[in-house]
Amino acid sequence: MDIARTPSTPDGNPELADAAPTPQDPPTIRREDYKPFAWLVPEVSLQFELGLEATRVVSTLTVARNAKADPSPMIRLNGDGLEVVSVKVDGEPSNSWTMDGDDLLVTLPGDAHEITVATEIDPSANTQLMGLYASDGMLCTQCEAEGFRRITFFPDRPDVLSTYRVRMTGSAETFPVLLCNGNLEATGTNDDGTHWAEWHDPWPKPSYLFALVAGQLVANTDSFTTMNGREVTLNIYVREGDLGRTGHAMESLKRSMKWDEETFGREYDLDLFNIVAVSDFNMGAMENKGLNVFNTKYVLADEDTATDGDFDGVEGVIAHEYFHNWSGNRVTCRDWFQLSLKEGFTVLRDQLFSQDMGSEPVKRIEDVRVLRGAQFPEDSGPLAHPIRPDSYREISNFYTATVYNKGAEVIRMMRTMAGEEAFRKGTDLYFERHDGEAATCEDFVRAIEDGAGMDLQQFRLWYSQAGTPKVSVQLEHDGDTATLHLSQQVPATPGQPDKQPMPIPLKLALFDRESGRHSGEELVVLDKAEDTFTFGGFASKPVLSINRGFSAPVTIERDISGEELVFLAAQDDDPFARYEALQDLVVSHLKQAVEGELDDAARTEARNAIAGAFRAVLVDENLDDLMRGELLVLPSETYLAETMRIADPGRIHEERQALRAAIGIALEDELAAEYQTAASVPSDLSAEARGARKVKTQALLYLAAGNPERGRELAWEQYRNARNMTDRQGALMVLAGMSGIERTNALLDFYNRYKGNALVVDKWFALQASSMHPDVLEHVKALADHPQFTLRNPNRARSLYMAFAHNPHGFHAEDGEGYRLIADVILALDPINPQTAARFVPQLGRWRRIEPKRSAMMKAQLERIAEAPKLSRDTYEQVSRSLG
Ligand code: ZN
Repeated sequence: MDIARTPSTPDGNPELADAAPTPQDPPTIRREDYKPFAWLVPEVSLQFELGLEATRVVSTLTVARNAKADPSPMIRLNGDGLEVVSVKVDGEPSNSWTMDGDDLLVTLPGDAHEITVATEIDPSANTQLMGLYASDGMLCTQCEAEGFRRITFFPDRPDVLSTYRVRMTGSAETFPVLLCNGNLEATGTNDDGTHWAEWHDPWPKPSYLFALVAGQLVANTDSFTTMNGREVTLNIYVREGDLGRTGHAMESLKRSMKWDEETFGREYDLDLFNIVAVSDFNMGAMENKGLNVFNTKYVLADEDTATDGDFDGVEGVIAHEYFHNWSGNRVTCRDWFQLSLKEGFTVLRDQLFSQDMGSEPVKRIEDVRVLRGAQFPEDSGPLAHPIRPDSYREISNFYTATVYNKGAEVIRMMRTMAGEEAFRKGTDLYFERHDGEAATCEDFVRAIEDGAGMDLQQFRLWYSQAGTPKVSVQLEHDGDTATLHLSQQVPATPGQPDKQPMPIPLKLALFDRESGRHSGEELVVLDKAEDTFTFGGFASKPVLSINRGFSAPVTIERDISGEELVFLAAQDDDPFARYEALQDLVVSHLKQAVEGELDDAARTEARNAIAGAFRAVLVDENLDDLMRGELLVLPSETYLAETMRIADPGRIHEERQALRAAIGIALEDELAAEYQTAASVPSDLSAEARGARKVKTQALLYLAAGNPERGRELAWEQYRNARNMTDRQGALMVLAGMSGIERTNALLDFYNRYKGNALVVDKWFALQASSMHPDVLEHVKALADHPQFTLRNPNRARSLYMAFAHNPHGFHAEDGEGYRLIADVILALDPINPQTAARFVPQLGRWRRIEPKRSAMMKAQLERIAEAPKLSRDTYEQVSRSLG
């Protein structure tokens, strides 16, 4: 399918557009309107007669009036595209019901009843992948946030908690494995050859944590003994051919279970923990109680098909979903505005876990890179929202880097200020107080305050104010005193013109230039618009290292010289601060270069200083290779653009590439030597070997930029001799950006070798879509016609188009073709899978921060999308906010 060439509406041309496009205005849901539900639903019983094309669902709800809510004689059961087959109240057919839009309203005479509703759904027609859907011949569910209402009528809100009993019947050939939440209580066969299973989940849960899976699956089975000696059976279910790639996921799961006991005192609470990998999935994975459903991408890994980064991804997501069992499931969310309660906290927990499993500083740098690459742009654009939003139209749009990653940073700051031990007292209290409840962010903050014994009154602003605070830093020296002047400014964001100062915890150290040492790290909390801190005992002006470990998610504007940055880049004992000094050195140079502030001499001088700092990194014997590789990574074009008020993506790309080439030329010998040393490290999964691969890939990138002939040769050789996916993909990435026969040969070889493995074919698409090749746009258009390309599989759609949309070199093509292509993708994908379609909008939504020519073209594409006659709520909300 060539979506690039089938515009759905004439390019925003008003004469050709539909005469009167129907204005669509989905209602806005507000946090302040929250009201408890009028009814309790303590028990749910579900019966499924499973079929790929027709599944019959009969649900019986035990309901009782909620004494804590305003009484209502009517119960609202949400539905989404469902039709009623029958309604019974207390076992008798009832006609005291009506439809309100998609919802079913049943009038109930008394205080307690039993409602039975039958519906029939077609999983094979479910392309949104929300509710019950067919993937690759099996049936599975996705209910967060509001997917359960696509299965049966139900009060589909997270504050209605029920225990579930589920009986499912289906063909034993098509669905040999029948899974659900909780414990398997009984199985049997029917006279017609079908079979059934009955599951019971003893833990009350909201409907979004319901899951069911039926299909031809095999399991990697293992077990874990909990801290109190309970034996838990662990299963990872996959397609038969994938069983050999589940080992790393299983090890990650066992490590997660142990770590959560040791670090947060959390023990698993069922005798069974199941994970299922499915190939059609909108997100990474889902924490359904006792039955996590995963995107195959975050389960399957072996050295031949997965990179070191993929291995880390599996470990992190397995941990994340497992940790939700407490932060999300045992304590859940009152409403969707509280999403960061579970997501921010769980991201922090998975980050701390990964820090403990691997290199702590490297993990910290990676997490900050993600924050700056994805969350900072969100916070400074039209979609900015606080980690606890105040309103939404479509909740799927709020599964954002702000709610997840900034949410984690906000809780991390509490931990930094409290100290680890006191913080743990706070989380213990939180789990104890709210176990079995649907809680709020406010509940969390209060538990930390009470448990850790701290005052977080002003800190609560981090939950309500959007925008990345800017901290200006100046250090003065007089006599033997160093005086630090700090000021903060929280920028205006949509709907929030005026901001109050927030408490910003900043770790800092003052280095003596001569000895290269400091007298201890300090934590200062800037909680006013401006403040001054003095430090005695400095005969000469010290060098300031600030926001060490990235103790606060802010941008720092510091008055610091190039020499001081070089000093910190070489000397700072905080690895993050060291990385930061190098980044600052590069960022400040590139900003000046892009803005045309440098003459040739100044440019050369700056490049030499940067090359010198990189040389020091290459030869520093005290660095391990993982850290060395990390330090060598240049700031991304997206992050660079973010540091400028108005960005010219073309200039940023040119200058960044030119700097890469200059470093490659200046350090050719050192890089080549480093490359050879790294290449001689045996290929395995040890930290040493992984570090070597990371350094090798970075060295290759610089060498190829500085000396393309040599780079091509090295890359081709690396490709041919690769014994693992990290090396193979690294080489292919370099070749994909160059022309020549090696590129063609390597791409062909890679495809033929892996054409049967969907996850690796995704890499093949993504590598080409994110390449630096001058013809990347044409490549992407041609790849859309590839027989293995489809918009229906989210991984595949993203592999081509998300990779392209995040490749500034392609997306920001000067003639605007990249924007048109992504707008076409949004329009083509919206009717199929609105959740995935809407995720492309933020890239176009950056238009206000881009130079005028491109900006106008981006905006025009957003307007073209807005004129489409029928947009999903998801895409409508994102496009209208982006234009608003
Ligand atoms: Zn999560």
